[in-house]
Amino acid sequence: MIWRGEGLKIVLVPTMGFFHEGHLALMKHGRTLGDRLVVSLFVNPAQFGPSEDLQRYPRDLDRDAGLAREAGVNVLFTPSPEQMYPEGYQTYVTVEKLSQGLCGASRPGHFRGVATVVLKLFNLVQPHLAVFGEKDYQQLMIIRRLAADLNLPMDIVGCPIVRESDGLAMSSRNAYLTPEERAAALSLSYALKGAQKLAAAGEKSREKILDLVKRIITREPHTRIDYISLVHSDTLEEVDILKDEARLLLAVWVGSTRLIDNALLPEARYTCCV
Ligand code: AMP
Repeated sequence: MIWRGEGLKIVLVPTMGFFHEGHLALMKHGRTLGDRLVVSLFVNPAQFGPSEDLQRYPRDLDRDAGLAREAGVNVLFTPSPEQMYPEGYQTYVTVEKLSQGLCGASRPGHFRGVATVVLKLFNLVQPHLAVFGEKDYQQLMIIRRLAADLNLPMDIVGCPIVRESDGLAMSSRNAYLTPEERAAALSLSYALKGAQKLAAAGEKSREKILDLVKRIITREPHTRIDYISLVHSDTLEEVDILKDEARLLLAVWVGSTRLIDNALLPEARYTCCV
């Protein structure tokens, strides 16, 4: 990288494209953190299971390129699957414990694919810093662990979840939702808000908090809970009693679309990228 030699600070935002305001917020923040902004766009086959939505994952490269340009991205890096995984490819990275529960339990091999592609992107781009969204909270914790465990000479920065005006967490997969499913999907953020209010009112019991969340989500049609979990913010270990703060994480099928969302309990008074 010529830029490194020139002493410029390189920031990387890894994505799978089909940009929305969540991606653009990471880019905007990334721009403030360095001198050059690289965004990778790669729908990574290694993180999709055989029955998952790799083929139908939404793609629109022309639109994404325009949005990246407007966001001041210096390089939009769009490798092909063949370039990333040429014939004979056989090396994978696993962040052992953090990858096991939550989304890792529902999507075997998913985080192995994520950790592998992210490490490859880090090696290819050689950024000083990479930005990830808290929307994929378990992923963020896994990447932080990967960077620490493998002594990667870079910083990992997390950014808060960007939501639609009615509360739905932005996601490329929201494009799959029918109007009725879109309405039902609101129950995820609504339930998280409810849990935050309950925790703010002094409720400490995991059972009572999860019960409320479950009730709010299951009263909507089209919803099927994959998991709801209250975990320690760093270790992702289950907590029984809310002490200082914890993360409430959930994954819910809405029709044939699996959505994830999460929130800090009790609610943070200030949100900023860290
Ligand atoms: P994706 O393209 O879905 O793999 O996401 C690329 C990056 O954008 C990841 O670090 C995600 O956590 C982040 N991201 C996706 N949706 C949001 C959102 N609604 N708010 C904040 N970050 C997001």
